[in-house]
Amino acid sequence: MMADTVAAWVAIGSNIGDPVHQVRQALRALSRLPDSRLEACSSLYRNPPMGPQDQPDFINAVARLRTSLQPLALLDVLQAIERLHGRVRHRVWGERTLDLDLILYGARRIQESRLTVPHPGLAERAFVLGPLAEIDPGLEIPGLGAVDALLERVDDAALQRVT
Ligand code: ATP
Ligand code: MG
Ligand code: MG
Repeated sequence: MMADTVAAWVAIGSNIGDPVHQVRQALRALSRLPDSRLEACSSLYRNPPMGPQDQPDFINAVARLRTSLQPLALLDVLQAIERLHGRVRHRVWGERTLDLDLILYGARRIQESRLTVPHPGLAERAFVLGPLAEIDPGLEIPGLGAVDALLERVDDAALQRVT
């Protein structure tokens, strides 16, 4: 039973090992979360790394869930999936097998020590806005405006759809 469900958006990124495979595995894991349903997922995209440039390109995607998990419970399961995929933290914005960020949770704004929603990098990141616009172009980001309008304001020249 899923009472009081909300839409939640997750940004997926990977750039070591087999990133396309890792992102697909992550989507499979998201489709099996408790008290949740995977409603939509974007294509996979390739994008140059943010931060340190001496690392491989990232594969990115965005998924929309419908969930009755509370935000911190959802963050817990996302972090559990990251660990299952062997994520090790090397350096800030560095290479990783899998990054799962909770970018939006309904229209909620959340400020907790472990969780900021909308994700603070959202409005500057073509690799999040591009895939998000593919599945929900008109979506209003609390405090920021519509996804497609935000996408027009970032440089997405290097963002390439791969599947
Ligand atoms: P960025 O958040 O800039 O994309 P990152 O994804 O590389 O950087 P992580 O190492 O994955 O950062 O996460 C660091 C911490 O960020 C986590 O321990 C988590 O508690 C916190 N965090 C805060 N807000 C969020 C969010 N919306 N989604 C995921 N993690 C978040
Ligand atoms: Mg991240
Ligand atoms: Mg993260």
